[in-house]
Amino acid sequence: MAERKKARHERLKNVLLEEKRRLWNELRRELFRNQEKLQTQFDTAQDIGDRSMLDVLSDTGIAVADIMRERLTRMEEVEQRLAAGTYGICEACGEEIDEERLRVMPYAIRCVACQEKHEGPSFPPEATI
Ligand SMILES: [Zn+2]
Repeated sequence: MAERKKARHERLKNVLLEEKRRLWNELRRELFRNQEKLQTQFDTAQDIGDRSMLDVLSDTGIAVADIMRERLTRMEEVEQRLAAGTYGICEACGEEIDEERLRVMPYAIRCVACQEKHEGPSFPPEATI
């Protein structure tokens, strides 16, 4: 049982690493397209850590920055949950969220059944960014 949990943890960690890499690549691509002069700045920023990268982003004032900041902030939260051992656990029923679901939606916080219950007419659907 413990081994199974550990293996799942490793797999989920890889899912998040992949997602994070994808985010950074997307971010750099967007920035390059928007403002070439920032490219050098961001190449430097990557070396000094995610947080500094976010700080640089907030100064750019370009539209994509806000979106990416939000995503990266969510990613940070997810990484904290992973470290705490609560990532991939449905916040509503406490059961493990299906790994396939997490691969498609790394930020999912509920299992499919609870998510469907949660999404009533008065609730907007969970953001799927
Ligand atoms: Zn659930």
